[in-house]
Amino acid sequence: MSTVSDRELLERLPGFLILHDNKEFYRGWLRRELVMNRCQDCGNWQHPPRPVCPECWSQDVRATPVSGKGVIHTLIWLRQGPPAPDVDYSTPHPVAMVELVEQPGLRFTSTVTGVTQDDIAIGSPVELAWIERHGEPFPVFRPAGS
Ligand SMILES: [Zn+2]
Repeated sequence: MSTVSDRELLERLPGFLILHDNKEFYRGWLRRELVMNRCQDCGNWQHPPRPVCPECWSQDVRATPVSGKGVIHTLIWLRQGPPAPDVDYSTPHPVAMVELVEQPGLRFTSTVTGVTQDDIAIGSPVELAWIERHGEPFPVFRPAGS
């Protein structure tokens, strides 16, 4: 598997603030893999990516794939917002903060695809899925088992 260069990463995901600390997170997107930093000393997961473990202050943190499985922790329905591909505010558009199974408090925020307001609620189990935006992979959630 070839590694995407920093230059290619910046070119393929314009509009994202990609820095040294989060570049492995975004490089994972291009492989359709959601990665989060995990401490190699104490096992703690963290997101957003930081260079130091907030639990034990170890600097040995590595981008590590997560399962993408979790439950909806916070859910909002947007009825207006900036134009974005595949976003229909009239339906309205869901934005969910999902608590991942890897660790209490480890959360990732994205939309949930293919659902109406009757389909999901806080506590609903969801799983990672990938759509494309601007021709590049973009991580979202869908109801678990769908
Ligand atoms: Zn640690």
